[in-house]
Amino acid sequence: MNTSESAAVAVTLPAGVDLRQNFHDLRTAGRILFSVADSATGAPLDARIVIDTGYKPLVQFLGRRTFFTDLDRPGRAAFAIAPGHYQFRVESGGGFLGPAELVQADVAPGRTTNVAVRLLRLFAPPHHGWFAADLHHHADQAEAVTPPAFLARSELAAGLDLLFVSDHDSTVNHLALERIALRRGIPFIPSVEFSPSWGHFNAYPLRLGARPRIDTSTATVQQVFAEARRLGATIVEVNHPFIPYGYFKSLADGVAPGGFDPAFDLVEINAANSSDDDKVLHRLWEYWNAGDRYYLGAGTDTHDVWNEVSGRVRTFVHIDGKPSAALFADALRDGHAYVSYGPLIYPRVMFGSDLKVLPGVPFTLHFRLASVAGLESLSLIENGTVRTTKTFAGTPRRAETDFQVSVRRARWFSVTAVDRNGHKAYSDPIWVDVVSPR
Ligand SMILES: [Zn+2]
Repeated sequence: MNTSESAAVAVTLPAGVDLRQNFHDLRTAGRILFSVADSATGAPLDARIVIDTGYKPLVQFLGRRTFFTDLDRPGRAAFAIAPGHYQFRVESGGGFLGPAELVQADVAPGRTTNVAVRLLRLFAPPHHGWFAADLHHHADQAEAVTPPAFLARSELAAGLDLLFVSDHDSTVNHLALERIALRRGIPFIPSVEFSPSWGHFNAYPLRLGARPRIDTSTATVQQVFAEARRLGATIVEVNHPFIPYGYFKSLADGVAPGGFDPAFDLVEINAANSSDDDKVLHRLWEYWNAGDRYYLGAGTDTHDVWNEVSGRVRTFVHIDGKPSAALFADALRDGHAYVSYGPLIYPRVMFGSDLKVLPGVPFTLHFRLASVAGLESLSLIENGTVRTTKTFAGTPRRAETDFQVSVRRARWFSVTAVDRNGHKAYSDPIWVDVVSPR
């Protein structure tokens, strides 16, 4: 259906008259064949390709504006498209790993246009043991419209290291995604979004093939959490907690059946509700001040990969060795994680770890940072208060910084990084305990 639009014709329709209007100037589609590769190694890259300027179909059922490279021929994308001159934006890694490229192409009717794109890859977090997933992503259940193969293509194009799905109260896409993950040699985290009207919770990783058996329209929070554990979940995450049907909002309103149940693990930074990010952070900071080890998770809540961007916010965890769904979840539960809309953080003292220091004796917290857009600042947060903010002259793509601190009693420290676009990354805390000198 990707044919061109005709020239516009003015039509006057007098009352009571049947009018016939024929169009003869539609041209047949052309084809475009992309091959996307790493500019340094020539290795094929999964990519997202968006029409930047040129003919954008108004009715999206008739043609897409966003395309993804193939699952089985990585780096290749072939599709029919209306003839004309185009500028495409081609991106691999979602702006976290390297810059996008703008490429021009002319498409002629009935012809194939070949476009070779070389993308600069700047950063490789997995080389340093950091792996990323989008921990809130729908496929095609309920109001979501993304078949599992396209979920995988979109997550791969975003440069995510593990596939993830969380459909509303459904696990029907798990086996399809597990097959894709095996074919592509990457891990898959099977999840579900339990979706009562008073709170949504992602539970993962689930045993493959496990089916939820509760009715979330009548279940209490205790029943939801028990069902999550029965299905194998080591992580229960409170999703978009402060929106009108979020758990924390419902608790404040006294409408969550079962009240407050402490048996969750993570609280979500949700890109679709990013105006709540500060509320989520402050809630976590309160927990950390009380010594409660709830940690961060983040996901985009994507329902439609053609109109939303998978991995726009993502969760990075540190894993020693080869990543798996179970190890990813363990790292999250242990707080070895940060969430990011852009900046990359490499801490020398691991997030979630316990550091023992002597009272009043200075110690150093060291961080390496990276950002495709360029780094603006790094703030050190101590027990919920911003203690220091360092700004980076010239918004460099790489930076290193040290904070010298000393404490007299138990504290926690976390960081917030900001890039030139104002995109942030938030970390889990480093716990600092004071030991008495002998
Ligand atoms: Zn939800």
